[in-house]
Amino acid sequence: MNYDVIVIGGGHAGIEASLASARMGVKTLMITILAEQIGASSCNPAIGGLAKGHLVREVDALGGEMGLCTDITGIQFRTLNASKGPAVRGTRAQIDMDAYRIYMRNVVLNTENLDVKQEIADGLVIEDNDIKGVTTQLGNTYMASKVIITAGTFLNGLIHIGDKKQTAGRQGEFASVALAEYMKGLGIEIGRLKTGTCARIDAKSVDTSVMEIQPGDTPPPPFSFRTDKKNFNPTQLPCYVTYTNEETHQIIESNFYRAPMFSGQIEGTGPRYCPSIEDKISRFRDRPRHQIFVEPQTMDETEYYINGMSTSLPIDVQLEMVQSVAGMENAKIVRYGYAIEYDYVQPTELKHTLETKKIKGLYTAGQVNGTTGYEEAAAQGLMAGINAALSVQNKEPLILRRDEAYIGVLIDDLVTKGTKEPYRMFTSRAEYRLLLREDNADIRLSHHGRDLGLLDDAYMEKFEVKKTALDEALAFLSQNYVTPTKEFLAKLASINAVKINEKTRWMDVIGRGDFDRNKLTTLLPDFDKYDDEVMEQILIESKYSRYIEKQQAQILQMDEMLKIKIPTGFVYNNISGLSNEIIEKLEQATPPTLFSASQISGVTPAALEIVHVHIKMRQRQQSR
Ligand SMILES: Cc1cc2nc3c(=O)[nH]c(=O)nc-3n(C[C@H](O)[C@H](O)[C@H](O)COP(=O)(O)OP(=O)(O)OC[C@H]3O[C@@H](n4cnc5c(N)ncnc54)[C@H](O)[C@@H]3O)c2cc1C
Repeated sequence: MNYDVIVIGGGHAGIEASLASARMGVKTLMITILAEQIGASSCNPAIGGLAKGHLVREVDALGGEMGLCTDITGIQFRTLNASKGPAVRGTRAQIDMDAYRIYMRNVVLNTENLDVKQEIADGLVIEDNDIKGVTTQLGNTYMASKVIITAGTFLNGLIHIGDKKQTAGRQGEFASVALAEYMKGLGIEIGRLKTGTCARIDAKSVDTSVMEIQPGDTPPPPFSFRTDKKNFNPTQLPCYVTYTNEETHQIIESNFYRAPMFSGQIEGTGPRYCPSIEDKISRFRDRPRHQIFVEPQTMDETEYYINGMSTSLPIDVQLEMVQSVAGMENAKIVRYGYAIEYDYVQPTELKHTLETKKIKGLYTAGQVNGTTGYEEAAAQGLMAGINAALSVQNKEPLILRRDEAYIGVLIDDLVTKGTKEPYRMFTSRAEYRLLLREDNADIRLSHHGRDLGLLDDAYMEKFEVKKTALDEALAFLSQNYVTPTKEFLAKLASINAVKINEKTRWMDVIGRGDFDRNKLTTLLPDFDKYDDEVMEQILIESKYSRYIEKQQAQILQMDEMLKIKIPTGFVYNNISGLSNEIIEKLEQATPPTLFSASQISGVTPAALEIVHVHIKMRQRQQSR
């Protein structure tokens, strides 16, 4: 059977890749081990969080599915860092993980141009380093000019619980062994990572009355720009907070020798920012307690996910440790925690399109590229799906820049720096945080979604109305000035706004202090016509206008810098501040411009700046 694009995997990356490709009109096949598990959440029943929320919003603004699905299946919504600036706020939702899976499976199966096969891919068809198709364990061969591998933690997956080891992709599912071995033969650099998950507890055996209640926000903040905020009112469930104690720590510590990560049984590197409980106790022994979030896995609230207690300790220790925690004295474990080791593709093997450099038409996306998290996976899956489909259509690829999207930062970090530990997104990884906010992802990216055909006309009409209103309001505020007349100063005083002493730009008047709709419309009554979404943008853009303008100027400067030619025969090796690795790469590649240099893996913006300074110094010396 012939397809244009084949996606191996039905996880968060595989779903977005398949949907994007099929929705762009390209004949697509998803091959996945268990159709039942399309959209399964291997770990916590939650989507979003700090910086991860940005990724979900961006996936949504480009026409992906994750945000819509989360809004429909979410059971609690919160804005994290709500008291901090808008650049670092993050939306997070608990999901009903069963409902999430069913929703995603139904969307996938109801999408035109998209077929699904429950099979295990065991090899690829490659001719002259050009991908031609996929073979499966049932003996089928499916042909396609593009293949996207989104195998998650399944490649040579090996589960650890105490000294028990089991090959599996995740608990209860086959590992992908043949495909992993096949990939090793392609000459692509493959590494080994690990991650882990906690036990799931029978909810009726837990006493939540002794725990702190953590409610959702009212009103709940939805993820998707396409969700009708006025009618968005999901029933929200609380989560609970409890703590480990000295007894818990002693149980864990006295069993370190039975933990695979300390006994040397695990070889892969784990996620630094999501450590197991045994790792936390060993690294932070002085802390008297660690927080445990008790999160419902579904709306029926039959099992709790005990966030913060990821472990690969033996099952008897898991039970003892769980039962030492307040409210869980009688807890019964339904599913035990475990660690999993798996193969990943070193992402420096990839271009910015996520196509492998060695095999034409072969893409990889998601956890298989060394990342961790549903959101990081969805973002890469979407971009791989888009770029595979664009390539089928002989169109230019879509590469998001670092100043345009967190997705741009994610992919650029991966393909230029590579990773030796599971990579997760943080706001600190983005240089232009004030430009890349969750709240303006639609303004930044929806034009791409429209051009790709991933956003429908109804949404785009609504979006254009919002964008026109916002442009009009911001143009007024940045181009018009107000003078400190007696009347105006009286108005400012009446709303407790900061006084002005000279002719001032409207934007700077609004940007000072804490302006809200009421204050703004007291000064500019005409602005009352703007709805809450536009008003939110007006207030944020005004408040941070000076910083935003500065970041925009830096981006222009960088764009100009990248155009600079590197003289032929330019000598790198005596430039201090450049690492030997970077010098070697630049000498080998002899890039003609700073832009070409920026495309070389490992060449950082700081290194470019150093080379730039040296080019200028050389030009000055020559002109003397
Ligand atoms: C035990 C565990 C703990 C985790 N802990 C965390 C955590 O603490 N924090 C966090 O952010 N993330 C965690 N994750 C990671 C999170 O689950 C993943 O980042 C996310 O699911 C990755 O999405 P993906 O689409 O790349 O892969 P997955 O969701 O793993 O999906 C992979 C898909 O590929 C399919 N597949 C694999 N091989 C083949 C084949 N040969 N043929 C056909 N189909 C194939 C599978 O059936 C599956 O559908 C954990 C994952 C696991 C397993």
